[in-house]
Amino acid sequence: MALDAAPATDTFGRRFHYLRLSVTEVCNFSCTYCLPDGWKKSGPLSFLTVDEIRRLVAGFSNLGLSKVRLTGGEPTVRKDFNDIVGTVAASPGVAKVAVTTNGWNLARHVSDWRASGLSHINVSIDSIDPEVFRQITGHDKLNQVLTGLDMALSEGFSAVKVNAVLLRQTAEAGFDGWARFVRDRPVTVRFIELMKTTDNHDYFAAHHVKAQGLRDWLDNNGWTAGPRAVDAGPALEYRHPDHAGSIGLIAPYSPGFCDSCNRLRVTSRGKLRLCLFGDGGVDLRDLLQDDDDCDLLNARIVSGLTGKSWGHQLAQGLSGDLKNLAQLGG
Ligand code: SAM
Ligand code: SF4
Repeated sequence: MALDAAPATDTFGRRFHYLRLSVTEVCNFSCTYCLPDGWKKSGPLSFLTVDEIRRLVAGFSNLGLSKVRLTGGEPTVRKDFNDIVGTVAASPGVAKVAVTTNGWNLARHVSDWRASGLSHINVSIDSIDPEVFRQITGHDKLNQVLTGLDMALSEGFSAVKVNAVLLRQTAEAGFDGWARFVRDRPVTVRFIELMKTTDNHDYFAAHHVKAQGLRDWLDNNGWTAGPRAVDAGPALEYRHPDHAGSIGLIAPYSPGFCDSCNRLRVTSRGKLRLCLFGDGGVDLRDLLQDDDDCDLLNARIVSGLTGKSWGHQLAQGLSGDLKNLAQLGG
């Protein structure tokens, strides 16, 4: 096994620390911008097994990736999710194991996941108004999700974040409620600009709002942007002296978004995806069947990286071939 392969870099000299690994396309929610009709089975459910995940993560950590985010679909619908967490956490070189979840079963399992090595949690909560939450997700589960979030905090997770997609409806309701939400809770609420996928063109046209409105609100209400951590990616985080938590902003349509790209993505069927807004991918799955294929896996990842372009082409109206973010994990 090659433990000293050169670090993963692209042709622009960017180094990659961070792997976002989708473990399923299945989801139990039906968020209006993602899976408005719910998840529908099409074809066999041949998602990566725990052994394939172990080999995949070993391959990436050989190349210097030290943070792995488990995502989906809803990653925690997998019955073996806790094994996946433990397997990834046990991989040499992996220092951080994160999950992005809709939070439906956080309260029940967060303590087991922590014991298995989960270090970071992002919970998606688009609105803290229970009725708006129900309208967006299709489920009347805001209280259940918030209970899970607060349990994660009391379990001692150092970084608990909330992802909220910035939608016209929620942006127009304003951000004062969110500011109150983080007054005493040490969480970062990160607003993500709505992204266009091949399935949501009409929705995007009706609901996308630019991040500038939120930036103006933050500037006018005493919030100041802080420095960025090395593996934090493109999020900008704002703090306020009166608030325990912070407010972040992920604005893929803003200039410079790709400059600090430090992440690679792998689909739940084992394809390396070089850009969220790109096309296709590099199949890795045939090299995940045997521990002895580690060198070949490393070589394929390194050669795949030469195909990574500098940035997305959203400004030219091109957002790639992704039907919805449940296919890849965002
Ligand atoms: N099911 C999990 C969840 O919702 O947290 C993980 C997968 S979900 C695809 C990951 C993140 O992508 C969530 O925070 C979700 O809100 C966000 N997302 C999904 N579709 C999006 C879109 N079209 N634009 C922006 N964010 C999106
Ligand atoms: Fe499911 Fe997450 Fe997509 Fe909502 S955003 S439908 S929870 S995958």
